[in-house]
Amino acid sequence: MDYQAILNDIADEIRPFLKEGKVADYIPALAEVDPEQFGMALTLFDGTQFSVGDAETLFSIQSISKVFTFTLALNFYGTDMYKRIGREPSGNPFNSLVQLEYEHGIPRNPFINAGAINVTDALLSHYGDDGNTLHEVLTFIRSIADEPSIDYNETVAASEMDHGFRNLALANLMKSFNNLDNDVQEVVETYFKHCAVEMDTKMLSRAMLYLANHGVDPITGTVHITPQQAKRINAVMLTCGHYDASGDFAFHVGLPGKSGVGGGIVAVIPKLMGLAVWSPGLNAQGNSLVGTKALELFTTKTGLSVF
Ligand code: GLU
Repeated sequence: MDYQAILNDIADEIRPFLKEGKVADYIPALAEVDPEQFGMALTLFDGTQFSVGDAETLFSIQSISKVFTFTLALNFYGTDMYKRIGREPSGNPFNSLVQLEYEHGIPRNPFINAGAINVTDALLSHYGDDGNTLHEVLTFIRSIADEPSIDYNETVAASEMDHGFRNLALANLMKSFNNLDNDVQEVVETYFKHCAVEMDTKMLSRAMLYLANHGVDPITGTVHITPQQAKRINAVMLTCGHYDASGDFAFHVGLPGKSGVGGGIVAVIPKLMGLAVWSPGLNAQGNSLVGTKALELFTTKTGLSVF
């Protein structure tokens, strides 16, 4: 298949929509990003990459980091993770407090904010504080992306902390239900830091390979997670990866994926490739408007999806 020609066609077709999305301005540092950027990349199992547009521009991965932290937590907590976090779509905005109150402080899934904050808490209990947890998360991301330069942006993390009232509220609510072990401030700060990790679409598509290959990096042979856990992470990405538009994403794109409010989306084509797209303008549910369209075009043009 001529992947390069397909990516070039997609870049042409999405251009008229670049003005339609709206950047996430509830994190002031993200509001400054030029919304009319677009990059897309894919990585095959032998490491071959194809890309188009701003595929080497670093951006804030935001909630895409939740896939990586959940992977790490599953590694040592296994199914015990599901005592503190569910695995059902929330059908609610990513930062909603209402459902968490009704459901006694147990977040619906690891990919909404409350769930990811809870995962960060589990990581802190395992790895300890003083930067160890963040160090382990960064080490893992650098390893799956095969890119040692990856780091987080301190300005973005600090900007979120200054305006993180809702995430602090979610963490406090879980703490009140005894579903958060560590200090609220420390958990939320660590969560913001891993959300502020910066990557480009080439790195992200490379980083998805272990999930396309039953938990094993097909290039290095490193086992990151069991096949069963890889299956489950993919399943949760498919059903919960796009906030309250997860059904819509599955309907249009037909792939396990995860979006972030920085405008990035990662997706997995099992046994074949990792995919990533970035365009900072978001739709009403907080997913990249053009990114979603680009992935829909990709699965339509290639006939590649999980269905
Ligand atoms: N750091 C962001 C927040 O907690 C992540 C949101 C997202 O990408 O969905 O609000």
